[in-house]
Amino acid sequence: MTAARITEVDVIDIRFPTSRELDGSDAMNPDPDYSAAYVILRTDAGDGLEGHAFAFTIGRGNDVQAAAIAALRDHVVGLSAEAVCADPGSLSRALVGDSQLRWLGPEKGVMHMAIGAVVNAVWDLAAKRAGRPVWKLLTDSEPEWLADQVDYRYIEDALTREEAVALLRKGKDGSAGRELRLLANGYPAYTTSPGWLGYSDDKVVRLAERAVADGFTQIKLKVGADLADDVRRMRAARAAVGPDVRIAVDANQRWNVAEAVEWTNALAEYAPYWIEEPTSPDDILGHATVRRGVAPVKVATGEHVHNRVVFKQLLQAEAIDVLQIDAARVGGVNENLAILLLAAKYGVPVCPHAGGVGLCELVRHLSMFDYVALTGTTEDRLIEYVDHLHEHFKDPVAIVNGHYVAPTAPGFSSEMHATSIEAYRHPGGAFWVADAAGLTEPREGTNR
Ligand SMILES: [Mg+2]
Repeated sequence: MTAARITEVDVIDIRFPTSRELDGSDAMNPDPDYSAAYVILRTDAGDGLEGHAFAFTIGRGNDVQAAAIAALRDHVVGLSAEAVCADPGSLSRALVGDSQLRWLGPEKGVMHMAIGAVVNAVWDLAAKRAGRPVWKLLTDSEPEWLADQVDYRYIEDALTREEAVALLRKGKDGSAGRELRLLANGYPAYTTSPGWLGYSDDKVVRLAERAVADGFTQIKLKVGADLADDVRRMRAARAAVGPDVRIAVDANQRWNVAEAVEWTNALAEYAPYWIEEPTSPDDILGHATVRRGVAPVKVATGEHVHNRVVFKQLLQAEAIDVLQIDAARVGGVNENLAILLLAAKYGVPVCPHAGGVGLCELVRHLSMFDYVALTGTTEDRLIEYVDHLHEHFKDPVAIVNGHYVAPTAPGFSSEMHATSIEAYRHPGGAFWVADAAGLTEPREGTNR
């Protein structure tokens, strides 16, 4: 019997027409078509298991993202499935270290997101082969093995392997009890569904009230296009949810530094909990300035932060109060493990970015690991939740009383239904063919 090999890397450009209802609209992204540059790792194991994952984009450029994933094919095809699943970190380092492709980064942008997709597909395959969800695979792993999954290059001045092992050993204390609590109660969520910029005031109020009734203790509003609109929407939302529900606001990188301070302070009367992405995700010192200028409003960022190196500096510069990992922005589970460890060391809570397509499905695994076997707490920690496109996934998120239910199916919850892939494959899927022929439904407008 020969060992199973990875035999193929399929890459598919999948796009959903979300821009037609202004779902996902914000100050910088008025018309997103949530998209996935989707990857499938196939093996010759004969067990029917495949590794699925994706990079998330918002429409145009998803073909570029797909081409970047395809450029990694030669690193992956032919690898032993067993070896790569036993040590995804080695493949992660090999992909990051490709001596020619790294010119396109290094460790940032389209190429790095492609690496993240492939690495996450390996974790999906590894977890399926192990018969466990990724969060459980992580929490069951030995601290030394987990620590070896992290690339300490460029972060050793902030986090050494020895410190990582110590944090992970400490995280094991009481983990069995926390796992039971996670399975019983889930992990806290907040919802962004009420707050898209393209929504009318009535719709914001209606959805904010519904969020509170559904058990959420935090909502989020998009801001940054027009100050008078933001003040009016914030006042209406605060009146709708009352004083005890947190309202975060999100500017999606709209502002310069001074403007971020002024605008956030102009909303202070309505007690925003955090200001998210006030300015460029690359501006570490700018975030530190904003943080000093808007306290006690907290500063949050991370969904567009390229890699662990920038997160390290945001923490070193005391530039953020809330760290927002994204499952599909950096180099996959391995790099997010590094970022979770950095956040744990610096004592900054992680509240993941999610939404888009599939991001909620993925990132819950990382927060649940963080709770069970790293920081051991959910205090001031919530995972973003948006009620979009979950029906396309085989293991979709479930929310009960404002909490993410812990997934139990083996894998990373990253696999879409074959019917969804076929329908929304761009440009040849059934939906897009019908759309090009003028046969799809007209735009609904914003008054849902
Ligand atoms: Mg955001």
